[in-house]
Amino acid sequence: MNAMPIDFSIDDRLADLVRRTESFVSTIVIPAERDVHGSLHYAPEDLRHRLQSQAKEAGVFAPGVPAELGGLGLDTRGQALVLEAAGYSLLGPLALNCAAPDEGNMHLLERIADDEQRKRYLAPLAAGELRSCFAMTEPAPGAGSDPAGLTTRATRVPGGWRIDGSKWFISGARGAGVAICMARTSGEPGDAGGATMFLVDADNPGMRVVRDIDTLDEGLFGGHSEIEFDDCRVSDVDVLGEVDQGFGYAQVRLGPARLTHCMRWLGIARRSQDIALARAREREVFGQRLAELGMVQRLLADSEIDIEASRSLIWRAAWQLDQGGRAAQETSIAKTFVAEAVGRVVDRALQICGALGVSNDILLSRFYREVRPFRIYDGPSETHRWAIARRAVRQAG
Ligand SMILES: Cc1cc2nc3c(=O)[nH]c(=O)nc-3n(C[C@H](O)[C@H](O)[C@H](O)COP(=O)(O)OP(=O)(O)OC[C@H]3O[C@@H](n4cnc5c(N)ncnc54)[C@H](O)[C@@H]3O)c2cc1C
Repeated sequence: MNAMPIDFSIDDRLADLVRRTESFVSTIVIPAERDVHGSLHYAPEDLRHRLQSQAKEAGVFAPGVPAELGGLGLDTRGQALVLEAAGYSLLGPLALNCAAPDEGNMHLLERIADDEQRKRYLAPLAAGELRSCFAMTEPAPGAGSDPAGLTTRATRVPGGWRIDGSKWFISGARGAGVAICMARTSGEPGDAGGATMFLVDADNPGMRVVRDIDTLDEGLFGGHSEIEFDDCRVSDVDVLGEVDQGFGYAQVRLGPARLTHCMRWLGIARRSQDIALARAREREVFGQRLAELGMVQRLLADSEIDIEASRSLIWRAAWQLDQGGRAAQETSIAKTFVAEAVGRVVDRALQICGALGVSNDILLSRFYREVRPFRIYDGPSETHRWAIARRAVRQAG
């Protein structure tokens, strides 16, 4: 049993920031979300710039970015509250500059980048002047739920490196100014080590967006793309951190990044439940309001339980990260539970709303499509369950 005390207290400054974020999302972001029907894959850059400058004016911009880079400098627990509030709209995280993949990439750069890389990439990312993507996953037989399958290769050439390989499902790649590319610098596919991270500028002639992938979800700015690295030349200053340490750095990014995904999607779960509650209170069938029917009450209660349990797991893992721990088990447990719980909550809300739920008149059907892939990215549920069980067995021994 982990008997460490947990402090979830919320100071006045944070409580005020959460209130202001909620107000910003309801008055500025939700109207903009309706304009694009919650779809961001092909949304214009103008929309991002407009929302982000409004977020700056409202003092809610860049919650996870350190104060010296112009952000609000929240710790993980603080982010849990603010990202849930931002996640109440599909456009909220984009407006606040705490959306995937930039938010995870900024976290990684803050910890690993050297001074020059911080100036060149982290500062403009923090200001919303640049977008980025994280290129790890490859078509079969390459890296997927098992990153060790990495086949993209970086070979030494005079003055730097040459990268060759294919990546796919790279979120935000279209229009990104820089890609963080994972490539194998030693060993063979299947080996646990030997990966290096490279910073590749979008105008590098050796990197090409091959196609935009048509997916179930549409809520991430820039969509998901297939990228090709073909004789892509980068120099030594473009290596992020140390050569051959890429898999270790990926863990620096992935633990917190999977938790911030949970925070944002919890916002959508809460929004869905609010829609269901409003509908259950007003819609009458068979002489009663839906809210008075036992089976609907069961659906509503189960969603309340899923939301509360999700929030508790997120806060617990956030606390662990703030204490300097890796929180590998805690973030895995939270990710697995929350990814499935938010899917259940949206599904129940849709059921309660009947035909209206599947229409585009309200955004529930959009949310339904958005939350499903979360059971796959940042580690499929099965991969996490496998890792959770192995850690539990090890601890028991
Ligand atoms: C919307 C979306 C956005 C994404 N964005 C990015 C991005 O920006 N950058 C990036 O690099 N990647 C991204 N990905 C890719 C994502 O990280 C991978 O899809 C994920 O790691 C799984 O890899 P895979 O798709 O190759 O599935 P596979 O590795 O082929 O796994 C397939 C299935 O096998 C099962 N499985 C896996 N491990 C186990 C196990 N141990 N035990 C039992 N069953 C298991 C699971 O059911 C899993 O879904 C994104 C994916 C999606 C869907």
